[in-house]
Formats: sequence, C-alpha cells, structure tokens
Amino acid sequence: MRDHDIIVIYGKQIRNMAYEICMQAGLKDMILGKCASFEARIVLKPNLLGPVPASEGATTHPEIVEGVIRYLQEAGFRNLSVCEGSWVGDRTDDALLVCGYDTMLKRLGVPFVDLQKDKSRLVDCAGMNIRICEEPLSADFLINLPVMKGHCQTRMTCALKNMKGCIPNPEKRRFHQIGLFEPIGHLSAGLHQDFILTDSICSDLTFEDGGNPVVQNRIFAAADPVLNDAYCLQLMHLDETEVPYIRIAEQCGVGTADLSRASVRILTEKRGERGEACYYEKAECPPEGPAHNQTEAKTAGLIRVSELVHEVDSCSACYGRLVPVLRELEDEGVPVDRLRGICIGQGFRGKGGRLGIGSCTSGFEKSLPGCPPEEEKMKHWLRQLVEKLTDE
Ligand code: SF4
Repeated sequence: MRDHDIIVIYGKQIRNMAYEICMQAGLKDMILGKCASFEARIVLKPNLLGPVPASEGATTHPEIVEGVIRYLQEAGFRNLSVCEGSWVGDRTDDALLVCGYDTMLKRLGVPFVDLQKDKSRLVDCAGMNIRICEEPLSADFLINLPVMKGHCQTRMTCALKNMKGCIPNPEKRRFHQIGLFEPIGHLSAGLHQDFILTDSICSDLTFEDGGNPVVQNRIFAAADPVLNDAYCLQLMHLDETEVPYIRIAEQCGVGTADLSRASVRILTEKRGERGEACYYEKAECPPEGPAHNQTEAKTAGLIRVSELVHEVDSCSACYGRLVPVLRELEDEGVPVDRLRGICIGQGFRGKGGRLGIGSCTSGFEKSLPGCPPEEEKMKHWLRQLVEKLTDE
C-alpha cells in the first residue's frame, strides 16, 4: 500500500474483513520492506478507552484485532504485542475484560501491555517534548487500530488522536491543560504509525465513550494517519476547521491532508457459492442512509446541553461523562437549564464558584467529588441539585 492509498471494505464478517484488508494492502510486504525481518517487533494499538463493549461504538472490535493477528501469524510474524492505556478514570484491565480482548489474546498467544503501567520517556515531537510509553516506542512496525467516532472536545477522533492512549496519565492531563489540538497534532511526529486500520463498524459519531452506535459496517486502511483522518472528516461531514489537529500534524510533517491526492479503493463483501466470504471491487461508496440524520439529531441535542457547561481544561473522562448525563436527564424531563454555568475542568483548581463537577472544583459552594466522578453518582447528584435549585 502506498502513502496516498485508502482501502475501504464494507461487510459484516468483521474478522474476515480485517484479514482481507491486510491482504489487499500487502501488509506483509510493507513490514518486510521497512524491517527486512520476520523477527520485526510489531505492536498493535487498538482503542480501549474504557470498559465499553465495541457494540456501543467506543472501542475497537476485538474481531478486527484478531483478523490482523491471524494474518500476521499466518504470514510468519511471531513477535507481536497489543498495547493500550485507557483514559484517566478507568483501568485498562477492566476494559480488556469487558471488551473481550483477554480471552482472545490468550487464545492467540499474543501478550498485552497495559500502558497505564508502562515506563515512558520524553520524545521530541516536532519541537514539542511529549512523554510517550516505551512499548509503542519500541515497535519496529506500529499498527494503529482506532475507531472513527465523535469527540466531545475535539469533535472527531481517529488515527491521530488514538495515539493519546500511548502516553502516561499525567501526560494526558497535561494535554488537556495546554489545549488538546496542538499536542495531538505533534504527537504522531514522535511516534510513527506504519499502518492504520480504522474501525467504522458501528461507531458513535457524537461522543467518544459510546452509547449511540451508528451502523456503518465499514473498515478502512491507510498508511498515512493525516490522510486517514482527512478522509474521516469527509465521511463525518465535518469541516477541517472543526478538527484543527489534522492540519497541525500535516505542518509537523506527519503526512498530507490533501484528499485530492488520495486513491480510494472500495470493496464490498460478497458470499461465494459455498457461503464463504469473498470480496469484489466497487466503484462507489454505498449511500449513508438515514443514519446520518439520526446522528445529526443526536449531535444537536448534545451540543445544546454542552452549552450549559463552563469547561476549562477538563479531562475527556470527566467532560465526556457530564454532557451525555445532562442529555439523559433532559430526555427524562429534568429541567437541566437550571444548571447553566456548571463548571468542570482543571482550570478551576484552587478557585471558588457556585456549581462544579469533579475534585478540581472542590473549592466551590456545591461540588461533586471524584476524579473523575462516577457516571451514576453524577446523574443522581445533578438530579438532586436541580430539585434543590427549583425549591430555592
Ligand atoms: S476532576 Fe479534574 S483532574 Fe479529575 S478527571 Fe475531572 S477534570 Fe480531570
């Protein structure tokens, strides 16, 4: 596969699709072309942000990881590992179990490295020093397996932002303090991705922690993470100004965002005579259908309640819980407008105020403790708070 190639497969046999796309991309030759050895250290990085099954639209389907591993093992590569560090507030071990990776990786004999427990070192990422975990840095060939989905702070997340799982928790917090776009854009300059296989099976196009999956039955492969993410912008009907880290990564020399130079090849699943899955080439992308309208409606609701929140440098796990909880309460008829101005984020540490979420707002008159607070507790606390505010 060349840097400007994108290969897309539509279908439902997820494991077969992942295997097939590796074949179509010529992954074996890509690895041997770079490393010249079957002993190459190949590291796979899925998205396991938390204990959320892939069917919810937040994490990488284990079948995709299995399809890639089977391809690599059959091609003769043995030095494989899978790594990930869940977001601040969740344990990677829990995500591994809930997402079905634990048994799958044991069955295939591939080790898993929890990046929340890994060593790290400072790396010069195009002029920005970023602390990155050792396991992905040690890879001779790094395979990124992100989910194309929405994000509460960066609007969209895929190949570039998935690398944030490769930094330790204190560095994740620092990313939020300095504003996410710059460090995400720089990160891939210090941590090179060799092959990207994106999970777009049923991702949540509104929020990163899932719950509103939109069935798309699609995976796609690229060698350039910037081009990959520019392609995602197109699929999600977003403008590049909404996701500035893509241009920042391009300026850091990570790749190109120029889709006019991309060669997109679309395949779709077809059953063979004996029921086996095979693939044929197709000229046009299948229509998006009503899913896009549903997504727009959900996005509009989330944007509406997010306007109630005053957010300064909040972690994804904190803010990413608050906004869907507000939306759920609104759906249940709770007058969440009364919470307008509620504060969240590291920018409120040591400060005073009226209403706040998380330990960063512990100096406020009314503050929900936790770092980040649990979702159920947050919902219960906010419901009671609205009732109190109504009585006052
Ligand atoms: S309480 Fe503060 S530090 Fe903790 S998760 Fe929330 S925003 Fe981040």
